[in-house]
Amino acid sequence: MSRFRMYPTGPQEQQMLLHCAHARYVWNLAVEQHAHWQPGRRAAPGFAEQCRQLTEARRENAWLAAGNADVQQQALKDFTKAKAARFTSGFGKPTWRRKHVHEGFRVIGTDRVPESEADGTPRLNARGRQVMGRSVVVQKLNRRWARAKVPGCGWVRFRLTHTELPTAKTFRVTFRNNQWHIAFAVIPEPIGAPGTGEVIGIDRGIKITVALSDSRKLNCPQLTTRECAQIRKHQRRAARAPKGSEAKAAEYAEVARLKAREADRRKDWCEKTSTMLARSYDLIRFEKLSITTMTRSAKGTPEQPGTNVRQKAGLNRAILSQGWGLLRRRTGEKAPGRVEDVPAPFTALRCSACGWIEKDSRKSQAEFICVSCGFACNADENAAVNVAAGQGGIPRPRRTAGAGGVTAATGRSSAREPQPTWVEIPLLQKGEDVKASRSGRGRSSPTVSRKPTGPPQCAGQAQQ
Ligand SMILES: [Zn+2]
Repeated sequence: MSRFRMYPTGPQEQQMLLHCAHARYVWNLAVEQHAHWQPGRRAAPGFAEQCRQLTEARRENAWLAAGNADVQQQALKDFTKAKAARFTSGFGKPTWRRKHVHEGFRVIGTDRVPESEADGTPRLNARGRQVMGRSVVVQKLNRRWARAKVPGCGWVRFRLTHTELPTAKTFRVTFRNNQWHIAFAVIPEPIGAPGTGEVIGIDRGIKITVALSDSRKLNCPQLTTRECAQIRKHQRRAARAPKGSEAKAAEYAEVARLKAREADRRKDWCEKTSTMLARSYDLIRFEKLSITTMTRSAKGTPEQPGTNVRQKAGLNRAILSQGWGLLRRRTGEKAPGRVEDVPAPFTALRCSACGWIEKDSRKSQAEFICVSCGFACNADENAAVNVAAGQGGIPRPRRTAGAGGVTAATGRSSAREPQPTWVEIPLLQKGEDVKASRSGRGRSSPTVSRKPTGPPQCAGQAQQ
């Protein structure tokens, strides 16, 4: 990632905020133009037409003309790109930008550099002349600091956290949570596989954020108890402050600062962990989770209010605070083609030693003791080993073989871990056998005589 923290001086900051305002204005105008379009009308203006209109608008409005033309034009370019990528980006159609929330602008480099083809030969145009490309103007000051040229601001310093200066055609400056950042438009090279052939399984949870199949357990840093107490304190004070007062705004700003810290911490951890995974393993297997489904609200409708709404909200918050999705996405981006999603059902209930699936094997949140073979292990680690093996123990044959296959549609919410009774997995016969096997576990002979001969038999066989 080529994103660095920027430290503008006071006057520079004022100028950059002005750039943000102009870019936002132009962007929102473009959004409105395109929102106005309806089937049957003439097409909404494209980039070239919008640029012409911008020039006209700059001629008529002195305040717009006072701003930087490149910054304003780049906002249109951003819009055009966002619009073109609306089906692939995951963000959908470009939407409104709000003050204080979506502050940022793009700067196109002013340096001219000769462009070259992929094989290193100079790129020539139709007349056989060298094609010149853009490059941002950056300068390294010392080991820790560098500076970039921002229109209207001169040189703006940023903290260089890489050894090398990034080279790019453009960069984007953003202002969020009271921090300025500069992000160079470069797609980093994927991290190479170590070539050891090692496979790692990853089980994501709430108590333990990430349990690896090599029995390591990694936790995403959360806010400390003290920081949580501070958040509550400032929220309380904000609630009691008079409406619209400066004090109220200040308290809310304090809450926002602490929450931003939590998000920063999570992002940092996800980046470091995904890099570690991409560097040290050839194949990385995640269990397939639908986080959107899992964090769905329990609120219900006004006619049919849900139950345990507060508890579910708390659980959702806990899930989202672990950064599951971000870790998966960043790992996929850093190790393209080396990440697989293993269908999640039964990864938590299947014994990684003998393959037996039973609900009773999972004694508690952390403890897993196989009812069948007596194999004892940490529950998350057991699940991670199953994920590494690429199986959750689906009783029916999958439509595609191997990991990452498509599971059969069941019509059941994936928010709930599937229960063994649903697929009619043979549970132990009720009676002494069960008691014997249970009392026998963990004592002298964990392997009881009723050990099934193999993986779970199909339902028909078990019912005699
Ligand atoms: Zn077992």
